[in-house]
Amino acid sequence: MKALVIGGSLGGLFAANLLLELGWDVEVYEKVGDDLAARGAGIGTHTELVDVLARLGITMDERLGVVIPDRICVDRAGRELYRCRWAHTMSAWANVYRPLKDRFPAARYHFGKGFTGLVQSANRVTAFFDDGTSAEGDLLIGADGLRSTVRAQLMPGVQPRYAGYVAWRSIVEERVLPAASREWLGEGYWFVLPKGEMFLCYQVPAKDLSRVGRDWNYVWYRPATEAQLADFCTDASGKCHGTGIAPPLIRPEVTAYIKREGRELLPPHLAGLLDASQPFFQAIFDIESPRLTVGRVALLGDAAFVARPHVGMGVTKGALDALCLYNSLAKSDVPSALQRYDRLRGEFGRRCVARARQLGSYMEARSRPEKGWTPEQLDQRPERVLHEVALALADIPELQIDI
Ligand SMILES: Cc1cc2nc3c(=O)[nH]c(=O)nc-3n(C[C@H](O)[C@H](O)[C@H](O)COP(=O)(O)OP(=O)(O)OC[C@H]3O[C@@H](n4cnc5c(N)ncnc54)[C@H](O)[C@@H]3O)c2cc1C
Repeated sequence: MKALVIGGSLGGLFAANLLLELGWDVEVYEKVGDDLAARGAGIGTHTELVDVLARLGITMDERLGVVIPDRICVDRAGRELYRCRWAHTMSAWANVYRPLKDRFPAARYHFGKGFTGLVQSANRVTAFFDDGTSAEGDLLIGADGLRSTVRAQLMPGVQPRYAGYVAWRSIVEERVLPAASREWLGEGYWFVLPKGEMFLCYQVPAKDLSRVGRDWNYVWYRPATEAQLADFCTDASGKCHGTGIAPPLIRPEVTAYIKREGRELLPPHLAGLLDASQPFFQAIFDIESPRLTVGRVALLGDAAFVARPHVGMGVTKGALDALCLYNSLAKSDVPSALQRYDRLRGEFGRRCVARARQLGSYMEARSRPEKGWTPEQLDQRPERVLHEVALALADIPELQIDI
């Protein structure tokens, strides 16, 4: 049996590596021309993610994860408002990508192959690429992310919905920070909650696996109207790149603006972190696909559902999608397996998106006050936010769904 995996990021690599274990012939097609390890920032992990990695022989050791003991919320002056035990492991995108990519046979991973379309019959599916080539298989996995071309072909009506706020983020090497900041930051998972916003930062393992050390990852969720987002996405030549812009093209005055805002709203050591970084941003979107399979095609990871990052499980969700597909294919023929996958992961995805939307509603409300929000949606008390953001999967009853 042969699988064509469109998208060679984490979701695609989980699926590709797992299907190899099932004895499938697997080819991965990635539109970007070279290694993706330079991308990404910090990610939260879950036991379930660590388990899928372990199944592939990848151990979450100290090079891949940092255990964070406490979550602490501070005010503008750096005074502690609330603290809770945490003891979860944080990692970084590149640290999960590297071993997954290295594990997969290089000759079957094709960089610089942009998928453009597909045709399928009852038993076979053919994919077409932007270099004029094509490939044929028994199953096509659309793991091509938020703006999935596979999804667009199968469900053209499904569009990402902008949530009304953006995440400013970056990673800073710990060694570039002043000693006083390193001491103040310690090993905390810091939160600052300006009205309608959420700033958080935590340590992650150094991105460069050959370097011993840690980096600091921060994410600052801030409301931005659609007009502001268009301005942030406009480069120095005046060209607007839609709702996302490559970090090197962000105008210097835009990064200067967010650093200035940091000095206004964040405690000095956290503003210093922002100052020492090269901030970039991602607009926050919701995506819900009404179904995950059409014929011999399955959507997986962000191509299927994008939940706002407050559930902290984008990577775990992609890994579990891949595991569910693997379990389903191990049990039955392709059509029955895809039915099972659609039912289980569709339910998980919808519930995940709903939970993340609820956690982010107090930020959405600031750019869309007219929508009418309940007090529960506007609740940004530290004790609620610090407990509910990126909760362990086992502690979320509605997400206990068979894999
Ligand atoms: C601010 C922010 C914070 C986040 N924090 C976390 C966190 O704490 N924990 C967590 O688990 N997740 C987090 N995430 C989400 C996480 O990064 C993704 O959910 C996860 O990487 C899913 O990966 P994917 O492979 O499905 O999609 P993607 O990583 O988007 O990969 C899609 C791949 O497909 C390729 N592609 C696209 N189109 C084509 C085409 N036509 N042909 C071939 N290839 C194509 C792309 O180049 C890309 O490599 C966060 C996201 C954001 C925005």
